[in-house]
Amino acid sequence: MVKHPQISVIIPIYNEEQNIPVLFKRLETVVSGITDQYEFIFINDGSKDQSLFLIRELCKNNDKLKYISLSRNFGHQIAVCSGLDMCLGNTAVIIDADLQDPPELIGDLYAKMKSGYEVVYAKRKSRQGESFAKKYTAKAFYRILKKITNINIPVDTGDFRIIDRKIIDLLKQMPEQQKYLRGQISWLGFNQSYVEYDRDQRYAGKTGYTYGKMIRFALDGITSFSDFPLKFATMAGFFVSGISFFLMLYALYSRFISKNYQPGWTSLMLTILFIGGIQLIGIGIIGEYIGRISNNVKKRPLYIISETNINQIIQAK
Ligand code: UDP
Ligand code: MG
Repeated sequence: MVKHPQISVIIPIYNEEQNIPVLFKRLETVVSGITDQYEFIFINDGSKDQSLFLIRELCKNNDKLKYISLSRNFGHQIAVCSGLDMCLGNTAVIIDADLQDPPELIGDLYAKMKSGYEVVYAKRKSRQGESFAKKYTAKAFYRILKKITNINIPVDTGDFRIIDRKIIDLLKQMPEQQKYLRGQISWLGFNQSYVEYDRDQRYAGKTGYTYGKMIRFALDGITSFSDFPLKFATMAGFFVSGISFFLMLYALYSRFISKNYQPGWTSLMLTILFIGGIQLIGIGIIGEYIGRISNNVKKRPLYIISETNINQIIQAK
């Protein structure tokens, strides 16, 4: 029978060669201080540097260390999901590889969880070494998301957290292609709490979240948990039709009653542009949802594993 470790640590990795050795040392010190029943799962998310080689070497002589290598870059959320699918722990910690999430906090997360919670997330008191634009767009985004969704997704938290086996198993039953894990976990409910921390700078290397990826991620978060944008399109439609109706009355009035009218190029242009703009926004919003529906209908696997040592470890036991 396969034994269940107390803690599985899930570490998504995209071009983190400079961080892996330090990360591993700090993680091992912290986690082995909590329990000797643990496993680390490194997920190589299509790195183009030496990350996979380093992970493979680490995992060679230690059967607590496992790795999954995805066939290409699938993105951070999906990398984490693949780790959650494969982990055996009674609890799982999700942590970034760049040491922005201090491993030393895991002790606090674990202790708090033991006091009766299914999820304990790490809430950022401050963020170091991130650009002004990133910090403030993130802040604004979390607040807008909170306003337009009807579930309570905590603000200023990433995916750094500890979750119970119950949550891991339930997440596996949520097969949507657009992963917004922190939203899904909030949606699940149970007892959730948090521990506050100061977010560090990236230890080395540079962010794998480009602005393109961030925008897609934000849109996934919104479309997965809110249909406010669709309602907004409808409301904007009513609003614009309302205005158009009054403009129409005004046009008829000036043409037939006051007879004070001029061939109105400006007003015509403005109206056409305004209505055209609103229509395009409406179509765009609908498109965002339809694109996601079509992705889900295809039912493709979420990720493809090209290499892993997990099967050998399980067979050896
Ligand atoms: N990451 C990943 N796939 C990606 C981008 C990032 O697995 O496509 C990993 C990355 O290696 C890190 C974590 O996800 O462990 C967070 O990414 P990053 O630090 O680049 O994001 P940021 O902290 O800048 O938001
Ligand atoms: Mg980072």
